[in-house]
Amino acid sequence: MKRLPVVALAGNPNSGKTSIFNAMTGSRQHVANYPGITVEIKEGEARSTEPHMRVVDLPGTYSLTPYSPDEVAARDYLLDQHPDLVIHVVDASNLERNLYLTTQLMELGVPLLLALNMMDIAEIRGIRIDTDKLSRVLGVPVVRTVGNRGTGTEELLAKAAEMSSSHSDWVPVDLTYGSSSDRALAMLEKMIRECGLLKDKVHPRWLALRLLEQDSHTIERVERLEAEGAEEILDAAEKLAEQVFREMNDETEGVIADHRYGFVAGVVKRVKTSPLESRLYMSDRIDRFLTNPVLGPVVMTLVLFGLFQFTFAVSSAPVSWVESFFGWLHGVAWELIPEGFLRSMVVSGAIDGVGGVVGFVPLIMFMFFFIAVLEDTGYMARIAFLMDRLFRKFGLHGSSIVPFIVSGGITGGCAVPGIMAARTLRDPKERFATILSVPFMNCGGKLPIYALLIAAFFSSHEGFVLFGLTILSWVFAMSSAKLLRSTVLRGESTSFVLELPPYRLPSMKSLLLHMWERTWLYLKKAGTVILLASVLMWALMTFPVLPEDRAEGLSGDELARESLSYSVAGRAGRAVENVTGPLMGFDWKVNVALIGGFAAKEIVVSTLGTAYSMGEAEAEDTTSLSERLRVEPGWNPIMALALVIFTMLYMPCVATVAVIKRETGSWGWMGFSILYTTIVAGVMATLVYQVGMLVT
Ligand code: GDP
Ligand code: MG
Repeated sequence: MKRLPVVALAGNPNSGKTSIFNAMTGSRQHVANYPGITVEIKEGEARSTEPHMRVVDLPGTYSLTPYSPDEVAARDYLLDQHPDLVIHVVDASNLERNLYLTTQLMELGVPLLLALNMMDIAEIRGIRIDTDKLSRVLGVPVVRTVGNRGTGTEELLAKAAEMSSSHSDWVPVDLTYGSSSDRALAMLEKMIRECGLLKDKVHPRWLALRLLEQDSHTIERVERLEAEGAEEILDAAEKLAEQVFREMNDETEGVIADHRYGFVAGVVKRVKTSPLESRLYMSDRIDRFLTNPVLGPVVMTLVLFGLFQFTFAVSSAPVSWVESFFGWLHGVAWELIPEGFLRSMVVSGAIDGVGGVVGFVPLIMFMFFFIAVLEDTGYMARIAFLMDRLFRKFGLHGSSIVPFIVSGGITGGCAVPGIMAARTLRDPKERFATILSVPFMNCGGKLPIYALLIAAFFSSHEGFVLFGLTILSWVFAMSSAKLLRSTVLRGESTSFVLELPPYRLPSMKSLLLHMWERTWLYLKKAGTVILLASVLMWALMTFPVLPEDRAEGLSGDELARESLSYSVAGRAGRAVENVTGPLMGFDWKVNVALIGGFAAKEIVVSTLGTAYSMGEAEAEDTTSLSERLRVEPGWNPIMALALVIFTMLYMPCVATVAVIKRETGSWGWMGFSILYTTIVAGVMATLVYQVGMLVT
């Protein structure tokens, strides 16, 4: 069968690739899997064009010398999949910055078509671009588009169909990088050509350029080939790079980048006129307030606090609808399935377990919606800018603020969207430190436990204790980041300059799409991993079954309690009682409840209810349970405080763990996260309990 021509959309983040992709493909799209690429890449079929084309929406990238996973994915795609045409989506209102990538695509030699997008914004700013001249100077066809309105996409489709059908060869454009680098390049290129290194993937000149830049990804790639002659080429590249360094007194990477910028500046000078050039942009004026050292943080706090309050306000009704739906389902299944293990498994394992997690969906949806608003308007970048100095002290990046806040920076978030929000971080170490630390924040699931224990032991200082716990979770999470960044994740912080993209009015369609994509990811998890884990937790808390002779004479809550005690989870709770008791004051009932909390933190409360023969306590109404705990021997304010600290810190719930696996791409880091958090929790709770007991 003849291969369909493949057209890839590349460009800076937020240049409008996805909008153009949607306009080109309509609804015929899906997420594609490529071996070795973890970032999602969407594919679709172009709307009726002749010939038919496959269109691919690559992740956003500023440069083909990659820093972030997105950039690695985009570049690897280009090299390994060898598309027939790249449509480079360029933000016309930011021509200089965008054209940098153009130079790199031209170096790669891939047949190129420029979509000059955001023409509407460029016009509003009074920027004029001479498209014909741009096309002549670059030697690349240019089409003007307004992606979110679909303007120009028909022309783009036609042009793309025409260009891609010829399956033309890749011809790199020779830019000049100054005499020292050019000489070095020519020598390397010759060596590469003679040895035939990677010859079916990339042009020798491109490879020479990468190696001269000492790009670590490319070097690793060549090393992995173990091809004959590769060793000598790598050695030569290193020597040549050193030579250029001596001559120019600058890294080759810098020398080459300077020449690319020079080229871009030259192009822009010839094709662009803008009466409003200077600093008078609206954005600059707004930024005088919003990134002002005094006003900025005040506005930021108000905005974030307002968004958070609003999220909870608008999602409270839908959350209760979802909950009552699962309540209804619970009842129906109970009626339909005859008494026995199947009923117990379906109702208590599957429906209640998944229901508990899906109950969060409306909340998560609105949270994602507002994150998308912050991102699309450009305000997120300002928040990162404001927080950067503080966060750097803890080895993080300003953008880490968002995962922290979403995970529960203002008590009540959720670590699942929080961890997913860490995708915007470019440096893997900063990203991992963020991912591993945000589960310490106070998510909504921990609140019922706090509420129960506060009502039982600290009812006179309720507000104060809750506020203290919020502060405490920040302290723990930030210290954890610092700890990780100075041990297992030690390394330089990114030198990457914080971008302040111009403010923009987001389009509803893009906001909804962003929201839906992320929510769907979460739902898929709930459908698979979480379902399995819920059933597994149910089994652990049900089997082995209490033998007949021991169940005799027991009924209702008593029976439930004895059965729980006899189960695997109950036995595990007993087994560690000898350790947890003296250290933290936790008896087996507390232990089994904490084990149950792995399914979802709310479960701690209902399991405590069962363990104390109070029936399954409702998370909303725990008055009777807290009264019971208050008078229970072994319970006292110190032990309750230790338990609060332990719940705040110990292993994340299964949904979070699943997302950690997904986002780090590693079982190792997932395991590390479980152990690390639980050890920190154990140490802290022991400290609180021991010191507290000594003092009182
Ligand atoms: P991507 O990150 O490159 O995939 O960019 P998106 O397609 O997600 O677009 C980012 C934002 O810019 C969205 O809010 C779009 O609606 C908006 N957008 C895309 N193209 C245009 C355009 O030509 N003009 C304007 N004003 N907005 C656009
Ligand atoms: Mg996109």
